[in-house]
Amino acid sequence: MKSYFVRTFGCQMNKHDSERIAGLLEQRGLVVADSPETADVIVFNTCCVRETADDRLYGQVSSLKALKTGGRPDVIIAVGGCVGQRDGADVLKHAPHVDVVFGTHNIHELPALLDAAESGRPAISVLDGGDRFASDLPSARDSAWHAWVSITVGCDNHCAYCIVPTVRGPERSRALEDVVDEIAALVADGVVEVTLLGQNVNSFGRDRYGEPRFAELLRAVAATGVRRIRFATSHPKDLSDDTILAMAEVPAIMPYLHLPVQHGSNRILAAMNRRYTREQYFARIEALRTAIPGITLSTDIIVGFPGETEDDFADTLDLVGRVGFDHAFTFIYSPREGTPAAVLPEMVTREVAQERFDRLATLVRDLSFSSNEREVGAVRSCLIEGASRRDTAILAARTSHNKLVHLPVPYGMRADEMAGTVHDVRIIAAHPWFLTGEFARGQR
Ligand code: SAM
Ligand code: SF4
Repeated sequence: MKSYFVRTFGCQMNKHDSERIAGLLEQRGLVVADSPETADVIVFNTCCVRETADDRLYGQVSSLKALKTGGRPDVIIAVGGCVGQRDGADVLKHAPHVDVVFGTHNIHELPALLDAAESGRPAISVLDGGDRFASDLPSARDSAWHAWVSITVGCDNHCAYCIVPTVRGPERSRALEDVVDEIAALVADGVVEVTLLGQNVNSFGRDRYGEPRFAELLRAVAATGVRRIRFATSHPKDLSDDTILAMAEVPAIMPYLHLPVQHGSNRILAAMNRRYTREQYFARIEALRTAIPGITLSTDIIVGFPGETEDDFADTLDLVGRVGFDHAFTFIYSPREGTPAAVLPEMVTREVAQERFDRLATLVRDLSFSSNEREVGAVRSCLIEGASRRDTAILAARTSHNKLVHLPVPYGMRADEMAGTVHDVRIIAAHPWFLTGEFARGQR
């Protein structure tokens, strides 16, 4: 029996695509391998949002050349996803031992491409667009209790730094009924939490004139009976009052929002083409906190965008401190060829960007720690995710506010048996990036 291994880089969208890639391969009778070294088919599902992801991919693909020259010439190596879409046949210039290249719009073609590559010649197919959602393909889900569900693909926003619209194409929304039917089937299959995925979920339905928008979708998803609903990513300019109201009224929608701000300076926000000001961002945060008291908030921030001065950066620190995010993902700007920002003059030097990044990282760590300290003593409803990464005697669980909690596996139980169950947990200690807890009285 042939085996496969899928290595995923990048965002949740890619993780979801990888489950579909695995589903297609399993449908053809392949079984999952423990490592790339033992697999007959190795698929790299790639990301090119920042240069580091790009470099890591080509580094890892190159290191597999030894596998082919060292006695396993029949191993098939496939490169798909965002780098496949962007580089097409040029992937072979970097890595001539690659057998299959496919893009973001034609995951469904992978089995046919693998067949073609068995003849010994590289099989390459990259489409400019397509109307298939990964969610419509067979799936080998990573988790029995959680599922990613794609609701939009592509992006129409064209932020000046971002390669996503180039490699993922224009935004398209899935039909509401398809999303709801998929989630109803997942619930029947034991799934308790779904994460709705899109580059900008808030604009769901905009391309389907007269059809329901995101707030209505959220309510329809809740009506399936799914216990927990999360979604990513939200764009501040499209976060509507209707969506905030749905978040406030529907108990299954978790009281947590990831709302990328990217920068704190109005001048840089305009140069980034984000189409909101810091004042408008503050107003959205206020609306969220008024409607959903205690909501936790995270964000994405880019440091070192071309032309960023020390004053601009001070605006970022000021905004982050004023909002008091519970968590933030921070990035040093990485020029991406073909994006409008890549040709801007006034690059911030690597040293300056790194120094600013370090200052921001310290602030984010302090905020995250204070946010966690405020949880100590509270009893939170937690979904058990399974064993913690480091210790099978410790459970990893998630509060509805999206905080990670570690707690001991109860005597006589196994972490994997408990995954997907919900319990009340008392928070007993805070750490910068996680909490520790114990089952509340009366619970296990
Ligand atoms: N669509 C989402 C949004 O609008 O926030 C996320 C897209 S992107 C895959 C995830 C994050 O990567 C962005 O929010 C941004 O902070 C960061 N990012 C995108 N392009 C970047 C670049 N060229 N350099 C550094 N960070 C970048
Ligand atoms: Fe990229 Fe902006 Fe679209 Fe997000 S909204 S994917 S950052 S272009």
